[in-house]
Amino acid sequence: MRVGIPKGLLYCKYHPFFETFFRGLGAEIVNSEDTSKNILNMGVKVCVDEACLPVKIYHGHAASIKDRCDLLVVPRIMQVHRNEYICPKFCGLPEMIVHSIPGMPPVTSAPLYMHSKKSLFQWCVSSGSAITRSRSRIRHAFELALKAQNSHKTGIMDQKDITVMLAGHPYIVYDAFLNMDIVNKLKAKGIGILTEEFAPCAASESQVKKLLKKPFWTFQRNLFGASAALYEQKKIHGIIYLSSFACGIDSVVIDLIRFHTGDFPMLVIKFDEHTGEAGVDTRLEAFTDMLERRVLNEDNRPTYGQCLYSRQNPV
Ligand code: SF4
Repeated sequence: MRVGIPKGLLYCKYHPFFETFFRGLGAEIVNSEDTSKNILNMGVKVCVDEACLPVKIYHGHAASIKDRCDLLVVPRIMQVHRNEYICPKFCGLPEMIVHSIPGMPPVTSAPLYMHSKKSLFQWCVSSGSAITRSRSRIRHAFELALKAQNSHKTGIMDQKDITVMLAGHPYIVYDAFLNMDIVNKLKAKGIGILTEEFAPCAASESQVKKLLKKPFWTFQRNLFGASAALYEQKKIHGIIYLSSFACGIDSVVIDLIRFHTGDFPMLVIKFDEHTGEAGVDTRLEAFTDMLERRVLNEDNRPTYGQCLYSRQNPV
């Protein structure tokens, strides 16, 4: 049995779990290649125009391996934390894939609730039944998968004289093709990088609690909480937010961060399949030059002001 796992969306966070689980059941894993122009073109060709860039790229990954596998894993991730959701696109991803790409092999479609071991195991029973009916084999593979996932860490912590928070969904921050290799571009300029994984948890939580309403989206909780915490603790000199055109969640999160940080330097770069690299380079250069001038030459450090959008101070 060959099990295909596309290298798109939250693959970067959860691939040890999926790969170890299906390998534990005796399957051969077929991965797509890293995102490339070829994968992007395939995705754009089959996916609906209105989708965001990461979803189009995911379609490209799925299309590139569909003929080499007997089962395709398309996780319908519903929740990572209890009472919070991921994004409607994740909830309908198996249907999008099956109806957009002709000639698909069988696709996993069970909903995946990742907030408890019990619900995660239910997904494994449902998805693993395509390979075996043996509950003990599934249980064994599941325990191995959990162990592999728990030892997998993502995130960038590289603090320098000037450090920015690189914010955005993981599949944008960690996909060097999609974000035009922004991590290495910043490194080459001597700019330090912090990502949401390295924001202190307690401080992030306390920032989220100040919001008027409990976040509905997990991405909203993570990105707003981390940005606000790093800003309040003066660990960063600016924020670079990598976003995708047509992402509804980002339109909320970006404004929340802006309300919170006032005139703190923040650069938002939106990507779609037409984004030109020269435009991104120019904006990055202008932003990092401005930070250097402020912090190193003029000693005009960013102001760390008052939260404008909170329970204490609603606008
Ligand atoms: S959160 Fe935004 S970028 Fe991510 S899949 Fe949903 S719409 Fe696309």
